[in-house]
Amino acid sequence: MNAHDEQYEPGMNDEEVPEGYCDDCAIPCYGVLVDEGIGAYEFWGTKGFHHDYVYKSHCCNAEILDHNPCCSECGKREIEDYGLCLACCEALV
Ligand SMILES: [Zn+2]
Ligand SMILES: [Zn+2]
Repeated sequence: MNAHDEQYEPGMNDEEVPEGYCDDCAIPCYGVLVDEGIGAYEFWGTKGFHHDYVYKSHCCNAEILDHNPCCSECGKREIEDYGLCLACCEALV
């Protein structure tokens, strides 16, 4: 990990917050809790409020990936090996 702390907003010191890479824009991100529940509902006269908290990336509300989905060399969204796309991988050998 070569995470640069300045990319994270201050105050996010909760150890439970997952960090990774955004599935949408591929930048390092941290998770924010998003309520994906259906919210208020009424079922046969019974009222309730449904919550379903999941972690999404802070930037795009997308999935959080463990690894950068983009080539670290050219930025193309393709990983073959060593964090590089196939073309950059072949350029190595
Ligand atoms: Zn993003
Ligand atoms: Zn590449």
